[in-house]
Amino acid sequence: MHAKITDLTLASTVTLANGVRMPRLGLGVFRAGKDTYDAVRAALDLGYRHVDTAAVYGNEGDVGRAIRDSGVPREEIFVTTKLWNEEQGHDEALAAFDASLSRLGLDYVDLYLLHWPVPEKRLGSWRALAHLVEGDRLRAIGVSNFMPRHLDELIEETGVVPTVDQIELHPFHAQRPTRALCEKLGIVVEAYSPLTKGKRLDDPTVAAIAKAHEKTIAQVMIRWSLEHGHVVIPKSSKKERIAENAGVFDFALTDEERMKLDGLDEHFVTAWDPTDAP
Ligand code: NDP
Repeated sequence: MHAKITDLTLASTVTLANGVRMPRLGLGVFRAGKDTYDAVRAALDLGYRHVDTAAVYGNEGDVGRAIRDSGVPREEIFVTTKLWNEEQGHDEALAAFDASLSRLGLDYVDLYLLHWPVPEKRLGSWRALAHLVEGDRLRAIGVSNFMPRHLDELIEETGVVPTVDQIELHPFHAQRPTRALCEKLGIVVEAYSPLTKGKRLDDPTVAAIAKAHEKTIAQVMIRWSLEHGHVVIPKSSKKERIAENAGVFDFALTDEERMKLDGLDEHFVTAWDPTDAP
């Protein structure tokens, strides 16, 4: 999937394998802390329709409250939350989902992810999610930080293919093997830490491309993910940056620019690296 993608907008969605539509750009709220409520309200005001939280972020309550107060109809907003590692296991996962839904104060979650491929526990957790998605409180299930061998095992053992794999993904960590497998299996790739948590926003190659388009480095990084067909969830607590990060639909990278960005891959991991996770 490549530019010239001129028809992408903040309202653009990708259709998951089970038919559910997921907005291509969302707001991440990891470490948004006490700013979570205002950030989500600002994003929804700006036209974002997708929020990515997790039980472990400790802010599901603020996310749900912001959604309820926003006046935007619930069915227009896509909400993801995640099962934390310490709550993995079949029965634990069922209880953790109930608790997340209750903290969110919503009737349903759009996407529930296994946050991490916890050994010994992930298959039981996954079977619980497969059960939950049959009901009316959950629309789609997926995984996060699953590398090819985790995906292969999950599908072989349970027969249930995730709709989404949320992984760290940006030009400095391009995750080619996982992306290739996801493409083959029809799994949507969702890019987390698309701005490298701010750690590489001074790169000269990206800066030159940004300058050529009169855009910021952050906008070029987000655009790169979108043009590769991924869902992307930059985090900011600041209204101006939340707006900036959505200002990515009025330009397109050239083939040469995209290739330059593709060439920056150096397995630069900002936090935890599941590559060798058992
Ligand atoms: P990002 O790559 O989105 O970077 C966020 C950082 O960049 C913050 O410090 C933010 O600061 C800063 N920033 C945001 N916009 C701009 C901008 N336009 N210019 C300059 N700086 C900017 O990191 P995250 O790790 O937060 O990833 C995004 C989301 O992905 C998370 O919030 C979470 O929802 C998800 N995630 C999932 C993980 C998983 O294991 N499944 C792991 C990590 C993240 P400020 O807020 O002050 O603007």
